[in-house]
Amino acid sequence: MQKIAVLTSGGDAPGMNAAVRAVVRRGISYGMEVYGIYHGYEGLMQGQITLMDAGSVGDIIQRGGTILHSSRSEEFKTDAGQQKGIAELRRKGIEGLVVIGGDGSFRGAQKLSDKGFSTIGIPGTIDNDISGTEMTLGFDTAVNTVLEAIDKIRDTATSHERIFVVEVMGRHCGDIALWAGLSGGAESILIPEVNVEINDVTHRLLEGNKRGKKHSIIIVAEGVCPASEIAQRIKEEAGLDTRVTVLGHVQRGGSPSAFDRMLGSRLGAKAVDLLREGQSGKMVGIQRNRITEVDFADVFTIENDIDLDMYELSKTLSI
Ligand code: ADP
Repeated sequence: MQKIAVLTSGGDAPGMNAAVRAVVRRGISYGMEVYGIYHGYEGLMQGQITLMDAGSVGDIIQRGGTILHSSRSEEFKTDAGQQKGIAELRRKGIEGLVVIGGDGSFRGAQKLSDKGFSTIGIPGTIDNDISGTEMTLGFDTAVNTVLEAIDKIRDTATSHERIFVVEVMGRHCGDIALWAGLSGGAESILIPEVNVEINDVTHRLLEGNKRGKKHSIIIVAEGVCPASEIAQRIKEEAGLDTRVTVLGHVQRGGSPSAFDRMLGSRLGAKAVDLLREGQSGKMVGIQRNRITEVDFADVFTIENDIDLDMYELSKTLSI
């Protein structure tokens, strides 16, 4: 394989640039021509395809977001859209594609592979909601961003003896809430995977109060319900006032952590290696610190479990 391309799609995540850099430079090290596709699948269909050299990915490993930009595209979900994308790639003589993105992007990547175009996926999403990899690219940075915010909120919570309800990202997967909540010492963590009654939360608050605990931090993943709803129910059921903070898109940004730069570099290089071996329809991932490969079919069918031991531990340690 002499010509390959790389694109970023769906929600951006810190570490995507490290992966783009690794794809470009690993490819060049094999004597390949590597092309960057701008604006995800939308740009692919429009032929926004540029030859990259080693210098074009210089000075990006430390930057958040993606220099290739991202997009969402309804047209690409159609058969005609996918054929259009493949035609643009073939017109340039490109034979392999690396897609950096989340679950939705992988569904598109699988369609390309099914249509005979060699495609490998790199899991890039802050949510850590992809099966077949213990960590997704950007998750570690997002957890650290949330943790920094929790530490700051804790300072003011302690000073004013207040209860804070902090809403973090995670529509279906509570990993950001769980990891940041456990490492930030949150009193309660609410995640979509575990059904928690509000009186359990208020009970913990009131028990804490009895021991003289005057401040508390409750982390809620957005997939559970809005933080304001939790605040209102705590008021109704326990008569306690709370303050609400919704962290929002700050969680997507920022300079990637050392872990995400490492992960992006390793996954990017492995993706190129797989294309070179003639493989397709797979995602590269990390398991027990080893870079692995998983069929897209398994990524879509294996359940992405939450670590319930970690969840129980967070309850034990936040008494
Ligand atoms: P993420 O990759 O972060 O999960 P999205 O779910 O928005 O983000 O998916 C990104 C893009 O992938 C979509 O805008 C669409 O172009 C493409 N995509 C999503 N689902 C499919 C599908 N079932 N078939 C083909 N392409 C898809």
